[in-house]
Formats: sequence, structure tokens, C-alpha cells
Amino acid sequence: MTDIDIAQASRPVLTAKDFASDQEPKWCPGCGDHAVLQQLKNVMPDLGMPPEEIVFISGIGCSSRLPYYMATYGVHGIHGRALPMASGLKTSRPELSVWVATGDGDALSIGGNHFIHTLRRNLDLNVVLFNNEIYGLTKGQYSPTTKIGLKTVTSPNGVIDHPFNTAALTLGSGGTFFARAMDRDGKYLRSVLHRAAQHKGTSLVEIYQNCPIFNNSAFEAFAGQENKDERTIYVEQDMPLVFGKFRQKGIRLDGSTPVVVDLSKGDISENDLWIHNERDIFKANLLARFFDDPLTVENFLPRPFGVFYVEDRMPYEDALTAQIEIAQKKGVGTLEELLKGDSAYNIK
Ligand code: SF4
Repeated sequence: MTDIDIAQASRPVLTAKDFASDQEPKWCPGCGDHAVLQQLKNVMPDLGMPPEEIVFISGIGCSSRLPYYMATYGVHGIHGRALPMASGLKTSRPELSVWVATGDGDALSIGGNHFIHTLRRNLDLNVVLFNNEIYGLTKGQYSPTTKIGLKTVTSPNGVIDHPFNTAALTLGSGGTFFARAMDRDGKYLRSVLHRAAQHKGTSLVEIYQNCPIFNNSAFEAFAGQENKDERTIYVEQDMPLVFGKFRQKGIRLDGSTPVVVDLSKGDISENDLWIHNERDIFKANLLARFFDDPLTVENFLPRPFGVFYVEDRMPYEDALTAQIEIAQKKGVGTLEELLKGDSAYNIK
């Protein structure tokens, strides 16, 4: 056994309580943020790392208060800039487990540019995007994910902006991991966060988070108890796309068009259905588009949850470290030499 093995073996077994800070959450009663916080605390022991090697970084918004409630290192940063801060930390301290807590406004509006570039660079970050389709902290302005038609303080006649589709944006930006979960699905959310933590690269987990004060029931059309079985689908690797209270419906591909089929008649079996493959970018993009159909269309596609897409690609910080090692073989210079020399802007 090495010294490191001995040190790890002698570490105490940690539980969720070890990751709870002494701060009482200041979120409203009934806010979905409480449930997400609990699942993040539950999943932390799975990392096998002590709290001092884990960092939560946030921007601004209700969800961005999360670092206060974790007994890890944390930074409550500035609006939209959690991802650049996390990127800087991960490149300089790649051994740390770096998490980002952000919201739909913080990540997709104020920080929208950082969002797309972080995803294409693929740093090994775990990004937890609380999507409540509203600006909660500032009292109910519409956000980039608010549905068309919603009346808010900044859209008194109803929103006319087409909303961002987080899944499509992630995949289109070159993201290497996308999953979706809901605040109310505690165990399932934990399993998705566990998968995200295992991914070597930027994992983007979109969580539908209810804001009972400014956008209550934003997800009820498909997530309410009376609708959930028929209007949601939980994808699982190598399994057919089946849903419905009695697993009586499935999704089949007609060319490249997903079609809902009735399994109860017996003429179509689960073997005829679309089999989920997290490595298939084409199908991940189709899943991302199970989103835009109004409930009234005949071929209504259920809202998907689970891990849509996973890709193995070298994280940015690994490529950077390798590049620095090669460059330093030529000798380690100083900043002053670089600035005063003639090679600062001339690659030799
Ligand atoms: Fe949660 Fe909404 Fe209250 Fe913010 S305003 S803490 S999102 S319920």
C-alpha cells in the first residue's frame, strides 16, 4: 500500500450530514431548491473525497445561494460568471471536484456566452442548472426558458420570446454530457447526479425546479400526479422507450421521426421500439426536441428524463497540462522575459 492508499483507507466514512453546513437555507417554503440541495448532499459521499477537496461555485439567483449550505469550499460569485470562475479553478487545481450551481437566467441569459464556450471546451465540471423558467430572486421577471404566453411583471401581455431548449443548446454547443431530472424525483435525481459526477468532462444536469412563488406549477402539464405517467418518459441505456401507467405506450422511429405507438393491441412489441443509446448524438438530438409539441397535437411526445448523451473527450485541463509540460521542456522562463522578449506574439 502506498501512503496515499493508507491515507484514503483511514478516512472516516462520510454521510450526507457531513456535507451540510450550519447555515439554514433562506429559500421559500416549498421551493424545489430544498430538494435539490438534499440530493446534492446525498451524492457527495459517492465521490470518495473529503469536503475540503470539493468546491461549489455559483453566480446570482435563488439557486446560487447553494454554496452557503454545503460544508465544502464555495464561492458565491457574480451574475452569469460562475462558469469562468469554475474554469479557472479547474485548470489551476484539476485534482478538485468542482461543481457549479446556476439557474436558467444566470446560465442562459447573463452567462449565456460562457455557457456555450464552457461546454465546447469540456472542462471536468459538474454543472447543475436549476430551471424554474423565471427570475425568482428579483421577483418574477421572465427568463430565457419561460414559456410563450406567460404573463409576468416584464411581460404583462404574455411572453413572445421563443424559449431556449437547454438540451438542444447543450448538444449544439458540443457538450459531452446532458441529463434532465426533476426536483420532486428525489431518488432519480440522485442517480442522475451520480452519473454526472462520474463523467470526465463537463456534465450538464438540467433540473426542473418548481418556484411556487413566481411560477408555480410550471411543469404540471406533464409532471403533475395525474399527468406524469402519460406525459413523461424515463430513458435508460439499452432499454426501449416505453411509457404510460401500464407501460402501454412506446416510441418508434419512422425514418427519423419519433412516433408514439400503442403496445396494448399486441401488434407492436417492445422489440420494435427505439432502444436508448446514450452514445448516439443523432438520437440525443431527437430526444432534445421532445419539447416543442403542444399537448394538443395528435403525436404528443412525452417529456424525457434521464441521461440523453455521453461522449468521451479529453477535458480541457488535461490538454492544457500536457501542452504546458511540452512547452516547459524547452526551459521555464519568467513572465518578464516573455514580455520583454521578441517572442511574446511570435510563435517559433
Ligand atoms: Fe424558490 Fe422561487 Fe422562492 Fe426563489 S422565489 S426561493 S426560486 S420559491
